[in-house]
Amino acid sequence: MATIKKLLVANRGEIALRVMRTAREMGIQTVAVYSEADREALHVRYADESVCIGAAASSESYLRGDKIIEVCKTLNVDAIHPGYGFLSENAKFSQMVKDAGILFVGPSAHSIEIMGDKLSAKRAAAKYNIPMVPGTPDAVTDRTEAKKIASDIGYPVLIKASAGGGGKGMRIVENEEEFDEQMERAVSEAISAFGDGAVFVEKYVASPRHVEIQVLGDKHGNIIHLFERECSVQRRHQKVVEEAPSSCLTPEIRQAMGQCAVDVARSCGYYGAGTVEFIVDDKLNFYFLEMNTRLQVEHPVTEMITGVDLVRQMIYIAEGRPLEIKQEDLKINGHAMEIRVYAEDPTNNFLPDVGTLQTYVRPQGNGVRVDDGFEQGMAIPIYYDPMIAKLISYASTREEAIEKMIRAIDEYQISGVQTTLDFCRFVMEHDAFRSGNFDTHFVKYYFTPEVLRKSVNSEEAQIAAALVGYLLHQAQQSNQAAAVNTAVVKSNWKTKRANWK
Ligand code: ADP
Ligand code: ADP
Ligand code: MG
Repeated sequence: MATIKKLLVANRGEIALRVMRTAREMGIQTVAVYSEADREALHVRYADESVCIGAAASSESYLRGDKIIEVCKTLNVDAIHPGYGFLSENAKFSQMVKDAGILFVGPSAHSIEIMGDKLSAKRAAAKYNIPMVPGTPDAVTDRTEAKKIASDIGYPVLIKASAGGGGKGMRIVENEEEFDEQMERAVSEAISAFGDGAVFVEKYVASPRHVEIQVLGDKHGNIIHLFERECSVQRRHQKVVEEAPSSCLTPEIRQAMGQCAVDVARSCGYYGAGTVEFIVDDKLNFYFLEMNTRLQVEHPVTEMITGVDLVRQMIYIAEGRPLEIKQEDLKINGHAMEIRVYAEDPTNNFLPDVGTLQTYVRPQGNGVRVDDGFEQGMAIPIYYDPMIAKLISYASTREEAIEKMIRAIDEYQISGVQTTLDFCRFVMEHDAFRSGNFDTHFVKYYFTPEVLRKSVNSEEAQIAAALVGYLLHQAQQSNQAAAVNTAVVKSNWKTKRANWK
């Protein structure tokens, strides 16, 4: 069994900080690497040592595995945590790290290779009779053949990049006439995003919910699951709101999905933290989608409801310790909600809106966790993912977690860039979300830019109305009424209460 004394985090932003915090708690020295765009970044300041590894473009810095390994050798680093994105799902990198005699805080190159490709992942999982969405078993090259399969499956279908990730390289095809055009688009997107044009066809599940299971496996063959996360509120096939537990699962289905997830992990000899993603239909049938062989963005909601620090477990696993947690020790406590605060404009198709954080004040208080990588006055670089922060709320019930989230969103003050905060507030207040009865079409069904403009306008209208009332009352010299209305005029808070049960 090894002991990690010094850990390099091959990442930036909130996730680099999140990993370093746990390392510090464990008495492990931390090393940051950074690009020229991140000289002032918080992860650089937080680390015990830091090294600039290249220019702003990630291909010249955060993706330079060779340089990162070089830094490890110079600074006597024992282990590398890759975070998410960048090199985290790069099998070659995992192998290079191992060959250099450094521990990779993540799975083996073999597991990453199998699960990194959606088709090979399905082939591996098939050994365990995991339910799968009907589709082509291999990459599609012959269009006539593909169209025949698509019409056998029945439209709508999804054309997906086998190497896909982050919602890229995916096209919904409503009917046969659209097939060729959408396939062309999927292939070219797959080539430009992943350098691999292999695509396959899958049935488009009606009324889909995205539910995923967190797993942990050690190097001795023990694998457990830490229940599910519900991630159905998405834009561009990418998550913006996540929670645990899911409001749609029964204890029986949770148990069955958990078992399937453990089997998927077993099918590739998995160790480390990983996530098995499923799509759930309106009859609660679930189908395996893919496995992400890394720490997931939304892992905090699982940490909140289980009390397990996933990064600490990842470090123990990398050191070769057997899992200290048994499946039967785990239970769900309370409810956690997470929103992703992106520098994006929800009224303009969620396009990135980078710039300088002129105001940046975090929410605080009981049951509120903020994982971020910025401070007031800092600029959000154009080179990387535009996520500013993850805001997590935790309470004993789903309703209270939502109320806490709304309170926290209202306390969050960000100016200088557009953010997804108001959009997420809209989600938290929406009847469909509150009822728990929603799917991945939430944004398409319920969201238009007007709903945000309206809420701003109605706030302005409320303030204006209050002001008029105040002046009127003053004119009538009604002191009591004036005092009440003064309070309304002064308040910046969005005091509108949702009208839900
Ligand atoms: P998660 O799957 O953890 O919920 P995302 O799908 O948003 O989160 O992806 C997490 C991060 O990893 C994002 O920065 C995304 O751009 C990046 N990412 C995901 N998959 C890939 C991939 N195959 N190649 C490159 N980057 C990826
Ligand atoms: P990525 O690697 O980009 O994360 P996924 O296969 O996990 O790709 O799919 C991303 C999202 O696309 C899912 O969360 C879901 O919303 C949607 N999706 C994927 N496959 C299907 C399907 N067969 N039917 C309906 N929606 C799907
Ligand atoms: Mg996915």
